[in-house]
Amino acid sequence: MQSYQTMQLSRLKDPRLGPEVPSTKVLVADDSKSICDLLCACLADIHGIEPIKAGNLREVTEQLERHGAEFMCAVLDLNLPDAPDGEVVDYVRQYGIPIIVLTGSVNPVVREAMLQKQVIDYVIKGNPNEIEHVAYVVGRLYENQAVKILVVDDANSVRGYLEQLLKHYRYYTLSAADGEAALEILQQHPDIALVITDYYMPGMNGQELIQRLRKHYRREELAIIGLSDATHTGLSAMLLKSGANDFLNKPFEVEEFYCRVTQNTNMIGYVRQIREAAIRDFLTGAYNRRHLFELGETLYANARRGHIHLAAAIIDADHFKRINDQYGHQAGDTALKRIVQTLHANTRKADIIARYGGEEFVCLAVLQEPQQAAAVFEKIRAAIADIALNLHHSPVQITASIGVTLSLEEDLDTMLQRADKAVYRAKELGRNQVVCI
Ligand code: GH3
Ligand code: MG
Ligand code: MG
Repeated sequence: MQSYQTMQLSRLKDPRLGPEVPSTKVLVADDSKSICDLLCACLADIHGIEPIKAGNLREVTEQLERHGAEFMCAVLDLNLPDAPDGEVVDYVRQYGIPIIVLTGSVNPVVREAMLQKQVIDYVIKGNPNEIEHVAYVVGRLYENQAVKILVVDDANSVRGYLEQLLKHYRYYTLSAADGEAALEILQQHPDIALVITDYYMPGMNGQELIQRLRKHYRREELAIIGLSDATHTGLSAMLLKSGANDFLNKPFEVEEFYCRVTQNTNMIGYVRQIREAAIRDFLTGAYNRRHLFELGETLYANARRGHIHLAAAIIDADHFKRINDQYGHQAGDTALKRIVQTLHANTRKADIIARYGGEEFVCLAVLQEPQQAAAVFEKIRAAIADIALNLHHSPVQITASIGVTLSLEEDLDTMLQRADKAVYRAKELGRNQVVCI
């Protein structure tokens, strides 16, 4: 299954969710073709990343002119034929692109220069493990784009500085100048993973803000780092006791800052990943049967009260056994994933898609008008029949029979049993069709 962050990234890519599109392009500049190819192959293995090669400074320039700030980051060889002394770093830096440096060797002078230039990491090439390390760092930057961090500080300069540090690692940052504004932003972005808050602020101070936040979010749901001050004895303890996960004494080393941020966002990421795993089907990413009923009960209760029109549908792949028999189980798995992608692409966010059994899925759809049901599911049926699936280099047709009901019956389970009857009818009528009863 995809990691939580990767799933969030694909959500960000969703055109319905506005302009927050993550960058996917990585510029890889090295004159050694073998290193360039190896690195690009490693990067291309990371879901979603698109490496772009350059063999010298001239090609780097061309790529930057073409794609500019679209690059998520750049992996740069310090010694290129037309830029032998790391000139490429300064050049790429002008575009505000985070940089990872590849170098033949590291001496204290090079190291100091790299730190000055705010290079994210530098790696000595030649060792295959180091290539993997670069891929790991790039993967982190890619995932960070889906990790939302809120910075709260009344001082513009501090807020700006912290945001800049976070943006350098491609975190998705938000900022607030006081506690009230912070609470409001959290309401608009409930998926914020980490809040970094100053203590000294007019109005609500950092401690009060932390206490307010902890009324709504547990430590493993939202991490908080309090900015403390070594001269104020006992402040860090007070912030921790008020609910902060961690604190940083100002002034801090940049490495320490990144370390705390990474540890806290990792922890939140792991917890979210475990929660996601508990509610989703491992293969397809659709909700599992248990979560269908947890979420479905709320929709069902709303429908019972007359607040919404609810349609329950069972979507059963046709002759699926034949796909397995003919192309193998793995090919069958691919087909199931494609069906779920199609279901998600053709339903709304409020609708629930779940895996009900092997090749059976449930869609609970909220309709504006009950008469829409036939058209909504007909569109889904057609979209499944349109899936361009290639298995073992030959096109394979998949279809599904869909049983739909709007009748609420006595409970959700019974409603689904009725939808199941409709599926049987659709199968009897020749499959690849929608039956509403
Ligand atoms: P019908 O049109 O009547 O629904 O025919 P069918 O072959 O789809 O239905 P049947 O219930 O006879 O077979 C379902 C098949 O789905 C058999 C089973 O191996 C396959 N299946 C169930 N779960 C999975 C899975 O996770 N992966 C794969 N590859 N196949 C699965
Ligand atoms: Mg079946
Ligand atoms: Mg079937």
